Amino acid sequence: MAADILKIEHLKQYYPVRKGLFGKTAYVKALDDVTFSVKDGDVFGIVGESGCGKSTMGLTICKLIKPTDGSIELDGEDITWCRGKHMRSVRRKIQMVFQDPYASLNPRMNVRQIIEEPMIIHNLCPNKKEREERVVSLLRQVGLDDYHANRYPHQFSGGQRQRIGIARALAVDPKVIIADEPVSALDVSIQSQVLNLLADLKEARNLTYLFIAHDLSVVEHISDQVGVMYLGNFVEVAGKEELYSNPMHPYTQALLSAVPVPDPEVKRQRIILQGNIPSPMNAPSGCKFHPRCAKCMQICKEQAPPKVKASPDHYLFCHLYA
Ligand code: SF4
Repeated sequence: MAADILKIEHLKQYYPVRKGLFGKTAYVKALDDVTFSVKDGDVFGIVGESGCGKSTMGLTICKLIKPTDGSIELDGEDITWCRGKHMRSVRRKIQMVFQDPYASLNPRMNVRQIIEEPMIIHNLCPNKKEREERVVSLLRQVGLDDYHANRYPHQFSGGQRQRIGIARALAVDPKVIIADEPVSALDVSIQSQVLNLLADLKEARNLTYLFIAHDLSVVEHISDQVGVMYLGNFVEVAGKEELYSNPMHPYTQALLSAVPVPDPEVKRQRIILQGNIPSPMNAPSGCKFHPRCAKCMQICKEQAPPKVKASPDHYLFCHLYA
């Protein structure tokens, strides 16, 4: 059995906000005591509505923002507070692919410079000729042609730009890639091509992904494990087959009911969630999902739900099963 390559414990990301001119400082709890782990070579999918904290999770784990508290262990090494040179060596192991391929590439650099840049920063391939060969090899691995190296980002389609972003992330040979909604800005017809590319690269390079999306159907395609997030923490985590065949948390059930089923014979009862996700600054008491939950009980309004283990790789937080 593979070891854990990523271990997250009690991770918190709180942003202070002053209420009124002389008011007390309140906190936006974007991540509120998150604990989970990812096995080497696995894809851990994170889903949830906008504002649930999933992108903050990616940025915090990738050390692009400092956590408020908790610990992040990457490949057996605690990287929570690392800085400077140490941080640079950590960056070689963990890279990020961003949501918006239009905004994440420097328009003044051509593709060769974009892909070369991380190699230069990390002092990989000091020989210019070798570096250029490596750029061409990376372009081929992501399905682009050699001549694309001399072109600029505006000369590419959205799907091609995302491929360039993936090649840039691969340039330093990382072990873990955090993909933050990598296909949500793309046309549906292009989405599956990029998902297939990510799946192929994972196999070829034994990569581990933290794959963030707002859509359960996208995550299903690629994940081994899936975590459903709501207002700063997971409400349910399970292996992919288990989660899709036996969703137990009312929020997961509602999200899954919105996923289209390809078989017209199969009718799925749609569960419509009332209202929007509340502000993380004024999170509801007890179970944070209770104002929107059709199965809410009195205890749900008063006490945070306990962790319930449904099977070795399936747990959730809900009073219904306690
Ligand atoms: Fe619904 Fe209560 Fe479970 Fe929260 S703890 S999801 S309110 S049943």
